[in-house]
Amino acid sequence: MKTPSPIPVSGPWITQREIDYVTDAVKTAWYGDAGVYNQRFEQAFADYLSVRYAVSLPSCTSAIHLSLAALGIGPGDEVIVPECTWIASAAPITYTGATTVFADIDPGTWCLCPDSFAACLTPRTRAVIPVDLYGNVADYQRIGEIARRHGVAVIEDAAEAIGAEFHGRRAGSMGDTGVFSFHGSKTLTTGEGGMLVTDREDLYRRVLQLRDHGRKPGDKFFFNSEVGFKYKMTALQAALGLAQLERIDELITRKREIFDWYRARLAAVPGITLNHEAPGTRSGYWMITVILAPELGWRKEPLQEALARVGIDCRPFFHPLSSIPAYAETAPAIGARERNVNAYRVSPWGLNLPSALNLTEAQVDHVCTVLLELLKQPPVTV
Ligand SMILES: *Cc1c(COP(=O)(O)O)cnc(C)c1O
Repeated sequence: MKTPSPIPVSGPWITQREIDYVTDAVKTAWYGDAGVYNQRFEQAFADYLSVRYAVSLPSCTSAIHLSLAALGIGPGDEVIVPECTWIASAAPITYTGATTVFADIDPGTWCLCPDSFAACLTPRTRAVIPVDLYGNVADYQRIGEIARRHGVAVIEDAAEAIGAEFHGRRAGSMGDTGVFSFHGSKTLTTGEGGMLVTDREDLYRRVLQLRDHGRKPGDKFFFNSEVGFKYKMTALQAALGLAQLERIDELITRKREIFDWYRARLAAVPGITLNHEAPGTRSGYWMITVILAPELGWRKEPLQEALARVGIDCRPFFHPLSSIPAYAETAPAIGARERNVNAYRVSPWGLNLPSALNLTEAQVDHVCTVLLELLKQPPVTV
């Protein structure tokens, strides 16, 4: 017998509209119409964010890489990134040959701490990559002020925050560039995919050339001006993305509803902290996340395992990047543990709860009941 599938941590919401658009794309998006869905998706995305330019890409990782490359960042430069994020926020810094600098997170939003960002600046700092973690939004007022004062570019990693807002502005529109992911786990999905947005025409032009093997749109054939990259989204993905974007309010409303189901059951429980919506911000609630008080004794790993055993799929809060094998023995990790106290204090006790778009309130109720039951028991030590 097939074992029942676990309650999923993440996953999309696909309707007939997506199926219709992709079906149309596979039939029509060839010959002279090959680029139509990409153009429509990019235009609709730029309009949604109120930005001038949007470029559809194969991933958010490529969007970060292109942002850094378009800014001319390379060996000898330093780029600041918060400790707690998916490695994709930081890995492209290494691709360019620049040096990664890990800054601390804010204990409330779990996003880049502005004071830590300021403390990490050196004359070599060229860019900062604030991350809108789990749909929460960083303090762009302060981050922007500090960045402008020091001539540092801002690449807003809004991979997890489509639909989130900061004082009425959409997440992703706050930096020199903003980057999004449409990976299957994200709120808006194209399976794999990404978008780079910007208001800066210079960066837009540079990105278009760099993403097409160093060829400007319309240039002489096979006469590339430089060695670039090949970063394109297919028309089938763009069709899927366009259909999802036309439903974005519905997708965000569902994420916020799922959060409300959890809030009603967990917010008042002593020792549990949920995603925090800082004043003036609106979270996209990509991942409903709990931070447990250390007094409860439950670290994220044993808790994740205990929940997995009863068919509930969770993820650990991101480990500080300076602690994971990819970085632990490298120069950027030196001193990071002592400097980034919030990241090291919060991360061991954080868990992403099931947040998939197909969840029902009954499933969330079940997850909360099981979680609260477990928390009453002595923790399993690993
Ligand atoms: C998912 C994610 C990315 C990477 O997105 P890909 O499309 O998989 O390259 C980058 N940053 C953050 C914060 C993410 O969550």
